[in-house]
Amino acid sequence: MTDSRRHIPRTDALLDDPRLAPFVELMGRDRVKGAVRAAQRRARDGEISPADVADEVVRSLPGGGPREVLNATGVLLHTNLGRAPLSAPALDAIRGAGGTTDVEFDLETGRRARRGRAALAALARAVPDAEAVHLVNNNAAALALAATALAQGREIVISRGELVEIGDGFRLPELLTSTGARLREVGTTNRTSVADYAGAIGPATGFVLKVHPSNYRIEGFAATPSVGELTGLGVPLVADIGSGLLTPEPLLPDEPDAATWLRAGADLVTASGDKLLGGPQCGLLLGRADVVERLRRHPLARALRVDKLTLAALEATLTHAANPAREALSADPVVLRRRADELVRRLAEAGVKAEAVDAEAAVGGGGAPGVTLPSAAVAVAEALAGPLRTGRPAVVGRVEGGRCLLDLRAVAPHRDGELFDAVVAACG
Ligand SMILES: *Cc1c(COP(=O)(O)O)cnc(C)c1O
Repeated sequence: MTDSRRHIPRTDALLDDPRLAPFVELMGRDRVKGAVRAAQRRARDGEISPADVADEVVRSLPGGGPREVLNATGVLLHTNLGRAPLSAPALDAIRGAGGTTDVEFDLETGRRARRGRAALAALARAVPDAEAVHLVNNNAAALALAATALAQGREIVISRGELVEIGDGFRLPELLTSTGARLREVGTTNRTSVADYAGAIGPATGFVLKVHPSNYRIEGFAATPSVGELTGLGVPLVADIGSGLLTPEPLLPDEPDAATWLRAGADLVTASGDKLLGGPQCGLLLGRADVVERLRRHPLARALRVDKLTLAALEATLTHAANPAREALSADPVVLRRRADELVRRLAEAGVKAEAVDAEAAVGGGGAPGVTLPSAAVAVAEALAGPLRTGRPAVVGRVEGGRCLLDLRAVAPHRDGELFDAVVAACG
């Protein structure tokens, strides 16, 4: 038995730990004991330090909270890692909104008020081109609500080049038809013309749907009409921009934004809140007042409504320009390289072999397919990828060319110290 193994806390001592008492009460001693044994095993195997066993038990039990991850993948909006990390003001807002609040109540008059009106007002201010705005759980919910309210039992006209699978096997065409709408596919995978759309429109049409291909690109002999060309077909034009940019982003010139598509004539724009907007998971609906009102008053809207924490976080995100997603997007590659060099220098001092390398980061499935963002990474031994992932905080890099690259673009600069500690710990 090595020295450190002798320090692993005993089962009885752990079960008496005050932090575990509520779990023992809630789940029973036996189930907690199972978690205790698993954590002791991890300490015996050297995966965690004996001092961390109690913490590990708490974390492994339900209610222990998600594990924090330093996103060193170089993918700015990583769906598996929770997409956009929230800004400090958004996190503060969530804390403030946790109790009872005026989310749906007017303190002046003492009457019910429009739910989330502060967040809605902030969104309306951010996109003056929208006559009205509404919020739902995510962009998929926004599309489901639009399809249900505007096209149930009728047809949605959509290009064959825009039948998107968004991830984890979920496909927008199946989502849309699950509402009782039918798809009227037009054009081909690579080319669709205005005439294709016009030819498909008839008495059964609910709306025309334009979807931004946010996670793939069709290149070569390819063309689809712009939003502007699809107005004037005599039916509503619903446009899914995906990423949630409200106004043009000069760093991503091919990424559509809500204001531009509304000005071009879209009747309704849908988007995600937790992609390039950098906010909480939610679905944004912006557009013509009568269309938004129809969606807002549809019975399904009640099943898709956002909770008070999301509303608070979104309002804070919209009123403070800076957020981690934006900072990662606009990070200067020269500064990223300097950070990588400095980390490598410190790691060398600590006896860890690492190399600073230029790297290519990406926005991620959340937007800008095919766009690479110049970045810098700390390259360490591939064997460290596993220990880094299971460390505290967890660090997820990407394995490339037999090494583990820790890309700094999506790591906030103030966390470099933690990244350094994590690499050193992973070597231990
Ligand atoms: C991401 C995305 C969706 C799904 O949005 P969620 O907020 O994840 O539901 C839908 N359409 C497009 C174009 C997207 O990029």
